[in-house]
Amino acid sequence: MSDAPTAQAVAPSAAPLAVPRSGWHVATVAATHRETPNATRIELDVPGWPGNAAGQHLDVRLTAPDGYQATRSYSIASSGSSTRVVLAVDKLPDGEVSPYLVDDVRAGDMLEVHGPLGAFFVWAPAADTGDHRPVQLIAGGSGVVPLYAMAHAHADASDPTPFRLLYSVRTPDDVYFDDEFATLVDAAAPLQLDVVYTRRAPEGWATAPGRIMREALEAAVFPASERPRVFVCGSTGFVERVADWLVELGHDPRSIRTERYGGA
Ligand SMILES: Cc1cc2nc3c(=O)[nH]c(=O)nc-3n(C[C@H](O)[C@H](O)[C@H](O)COP(=O)(O)OP(=O)(O)OC[C@H]3O[C@@H](n4cnc5c(N)ncnc54)[C@H](O)[C@@H]3O)c2cc1C
Repeated sequence: MSDAPTAQAVAPSAAPLAVPRSGWHVATVAATHRETPNATRIELDVPGWPGNAAGQHLDVRLTAPDGYQATRSYSIASSGSSTRVVLAVDKLPDGEVSPYLVDDVRAGDMLEVHGPLGAFFVWAPAADTGDHRPVQLIAGGSGVVPLYAMAHAHADASDPTPFRLLYSVRTPDDVYFDDEFATLVDAAAPLQLDVVYTRRAPEGWATAPGRIMREALEAAVFPASERPRVFVCGSTGFVERVADWLVELGHDPRSIRTERYGGA
């Protein structure tokens, strides 16, 4: 997309499409919230949204006044039957779409969305699936979005499955859903949360900041002997590294589900 217009240029025009095309919905931005210095939470009202499972994603399509379109996928931080759909977008400074979504989108704006998408990277309560194996979530950066949806659904369902999240994040300021995670950790069906800081850790943190390595991964996830289901999400490089290590550590590849966001 070397000739692609800037994020501003693909911003929807002031007169958004009135009639959704087949398979697409016109969503209204209900609220935005600065999630981190580099990311924004976007709440959408999507009339006709059929609901979604925890872990699914949707496509956002922006159309410039000259008709140029750009489409990107975003995980859904919410789940269930509500037509209020929550996203959280990280800004890639040179990106075509994410700077617009993070810095420019305002309540009342309209976006086109298509979904929900993805039937593989989803979690449902043990009462529905009969699967009582522990669940290990592993997130890199914004890859926490669908895993937050799963952890939230787990707490909402008071699901008895042991749930653990290993969250790799640059600095304490970059943690998504900080307050919500604090609540989930104390929920009746608790989430065990392990955070690894790659660039700056909180003062007094026991571990020096740095990329997660195989030994640290092994120490912070359910062991292979407990046969956990594992969901890994983040940049492509992060996901592939972690998935390879999990297999080396004896995890069954069939129990590892991955979502790659792109990038190195
Ligand atoms: C299923 C799915 C779900 C996703 N969910 C989310 C989400 O919840 N939140 C979120 O912020 N993003 C998410 N993404 C990533 C998102 O779709 C876009 O790729 C991202 O917002 C960048 O788009 P852009 O137009 O700004 O950058 P582009 O213009 O597409 O890319 C700019 C440059 O950044 C590189 N790049 C693209 N993606 C990444 C990346 N993830 N990390 C590092 N470099 C990258 C490209 O190779 C290119 O060089 C998801 C991707 C997928 C496939």
